Amino acid sequence: MKFWVLTLFPEMVENGVLTSITGRAVEKGIIEFEAINIRDYTNEKHGKVDDYPYGGGAGMLMQAQPVYDAYMSVVEKIGYKPRTVYLTPAAKVFSQGKAKEFALEENLVLLCGHYEGIDERVLEKIVTDNVSIGDYVLTGGELAAMVVVDAVSRMVPGVLTNAASGKDESFSENLLEYPQYTRPEEWMGEKVPPILLSGHHANVEKWRREQAIKRTMERRPELLKDNEDDR
Ligand code: SAM
Repeated sequence: MKFWVLTLFPEMVENGVLTSITGRAVEKGIIEFEAINIRDYTNEKHGKVDDYPYGGGAGMLMQAQPVYDAYMSVVEKIGYKPRTVYLTPAAKVFSQGKAKEFALEENLVLLCGHYEGIDERVLEKIVTDNVSIGDYVLTGGELAAMVVVDAVSRMVPGVLTNAASGKDESFSENLLEYPQYTRPEEWMGEKVPPILLSGHHANVEKWRREQAIKRTMERRPELLKDNEDDR
């Protein structure tokens, strides 16, 4: 799978993605990643990519032309119009389900806005999905793109060394993950729950499931409701 990130700040996304687990996955060729600098595609003098919004209002908007040409450079390289995600606060919030869905794509374009956003006309032409990473406003889409690349990469076979670790965690079956413990058995007077030391696999599984349900009810009860709605 290849991620293409269209951005005015490629080094920001490169520094994030090429570090740790996703960085190793790129090194091993399990995923591919390319950040494209939208500024390289502007037809305007001095690398200008933004202008004032028609109708007035605060801030500047990214212009359609450089965004479109940067996108078309990807289309020309791969030979078709790929799924293209605009990172924007004006959208439904990203989820594990979406990450799984995106992981099925061979190529995924992530478009990062900056300033007050991007001219709507180019968004209408190229964007297939609008994705927010949460109900707050960031200065740019770069952090959001990194979040999506990270969450989607974990769903690509081979990125996680321990395949099981992606299966059992939060949001699988709409449950949050159960509490986990590692050595030592006792820390600051707090003991690891004895059942985890029992070696009884079925009881451990039962305890973990109960804990996952309890935690979900306490912290994110709406996830359990989503489960019922799905039935
Ligand atoms: N004026 C826009 C609005 O109110 O919807 C906000 C623009 S924001 C300052 C600049 C860019 O940051 C956006 O174009 C988008 O790419 C990105 N961004 C900001 N918040 C985001 C969020 N919660 N999720 C994803 N991207 C976000």
